[in-house]
Amino acid sequence: MDAVFCFSCRHFQTDSGVEDSFRKGLSDWKKLSSKLEKHAHSQAHLNCMVKWDNYKVTASSGSIAAKLSRSHEDSVEKNRSYLCKIVDIVRLLSKLGLPFRGHREESESESRGDFLEHLATRLGLWKQ
Ligand SMILES: [Zn+2]
Repeated sequence: MDAVFCFSCRHFQTDSGVEDSFRKGLSDWKKLSSKLEKHAHSQAHLNCMVKWDNYKVTASSGSIAAKLSRSHEDSVEKNRSYLCKIVDIVRLLSKLGLPFRGHREESESESRGDFLEHLATRLGLWKQ
């Protein structure tokens, strides 16, 4: 095409109406260095460079949406684990016919009741 292109503007320019000679290809070679200099400092080009940098970061580390999704899946898995332990405790106490509550359930109490004591042991909520 006998033209000069700017990679970042060609691939990452989304604003229409801005100077796009380097996006479509600049074939007028006269005073090219001054045109390149002007383009390199233009706001449209700088915006495209930021978009390109963000693209490279996202491509190497995964998208924000994927990270959020992974974090959400981890949270769901952790909560399922807690819920299974709670259900196990409820089933055990029900099977043995033991009361859930203790006489005193404060953290200073020697015995906070079977449910809280089992929960603390299985989840490691507080020191025994
Ligand atoms: Zn550019």
